[in-house]
Amino acid sequence: MTSYVATADVPDLKLIRQCVHCGLCLPTCPTYVVLGVEMDNPRGRIRLMKTAHEGGVSVGSEFDEHIYKCLDCRACETACPSGVQFGKIVEAARAQVEAQRPRPPLQRAVRALFFDVLLPRPRLLALAARVSVLGARVGGPILSALARGGGVFQRLSDMTALIPRRALVWDSLPGLMPAIGERRGRVLLFRGCVMRAAFGDVNAATARVLARNGFDVLAPDDQTCCGALHVHAGERDGGRALARKNIDRLERVPDVDAIIVNAAGCGANLKEYGWLLKDDPQYAERAERFAARVKDATEFLGDRGLAATPGGLRLRVTYDDPCHLLHGQKIREQPRALLAAIPELEVVPLEEADMCCGSAGIYNVTHDEIARALLQRKVERIARTHASVVVTANPGCAMQIEAGLRRAGLDIRVAHVVEVLDAAYGGTATVLPA
Ligand code: SF4
Ligand code: SF4
Repeated sequence: MTSYVATADVPDLKLIRQCVHCGLCLPTCPTYVVLGVEMDNPRGRIRLMKTAHEGGVSVGSEFDEHIYKCLDCRACETACPSGVQFGKIVEAARAQVEAQRPRPPLQRAVRALFFDVLLPRPRLLALAARVSVLGARVGGPILSALARGGGVFQRLSDMTALIPRRALVWDSLPGLMPAIGERRGRVLLFRGCVMRAAFGDVNAATARVLARNGFDVLAPDDQTCCGALHVHAGERDGGRALARKNIDRLERVPDVDAIIVNAAGCGANLKEYGWLLKDDPQYAERAERFAARVKDATEFLGDRGLAATPGGLRLRVTYDDPCHLLHGQKIREQPRALLAAIPELEVVPLEEADMCCGSAGIYNVTHDEIARALLQRKVERIARTHASVVVTANPGCAMQIEAGLRRAGLDIRVAHVVEVLDAAYGGTATVLPA
């Protein structure tokens, strides 16, 4: 008798059975590296999900703890010789937790505000982000003084430290940015929620770089959050509702070569709309078609090649792989090739670039101790490169790494791959050192 309820997604038994318990994924699992506990590695978690199928363990405290301690970074997928798709089963297990475990009223209210109110409304999200930044500037020093006593103030102070100090930029892109030079095609830019509310400069840099390389860039206003954070946090119905909206609004835009996304977490989720909506007869096929058109900006530019030669940039940089780009989308070479195409740019390798920085959606808020241990590990390795810029391709990683560098007192900038390219084309990116 199964411990899962039919009202929520159920971890797919066929996918679970693909695990042969070989343990090859263990050294790549960040929670296993930090905690050293069998139940906090992929093999242990898969066994737990299988045992719940057989009714041997209930969805309750032990199950919840190990399923939620996972970062959903999917490093185990890259390492696994059996092709286990861990993200799909752990996200379904989280949906079971949310369906079976009533959260306390305050947590329910905070989650509803975040997932149902803010994320689908970028303007409101932008306002909330600016209020948080202001609050962090005013209250941060007071909180860090109070944090010396530990407890709740320590927690609040750590959360405030995650709020970025970089200027938050609203995305005010025009509906169309025409190609510069010989026209090679037409793409649609997926503007996102966090990207639109706070990283509008990265969206603008993405559009400029694409236009500079011969693509008309459509940036329709009528699109919404991709739902990645919902899916990650067991709110799969919320994620599905957003996916349907994006499909309805964007599939009708004609003559588009690709839907370009510049946030790795969003890209991985958009590419899995087919899986998310596989049981919806009205959307299953449309979701597959939609997903097949999604490309990460670095993937698209790397595969198509740069038509315009970038100018030189005298900088020493290092590249950190976002988990949902490397493990979720298997994109490793293209961002590195784009950086290598910039004359005079020195790109130094980063040890453990493939290991999670601890950001992982809202993990750095819900599991701050493990997230901090991973961030410290990342910052130590970045410091050893003596780079002046860490390049990445996901807003969550950028914010997390920036917070870690700030905490360590290191004057190292964080930039997106497209911002570095944009700067090499003479763009207006201000994130790089002068
Ligand atoms: S997704 Fe990441 S944290 Fe979770 S089991 Fe796999 S490697 Fe470990
Ligand atoms: S998930 Fe893959 S690598 Fe890890 S124990 Fe199972 S089969 Fe081996």
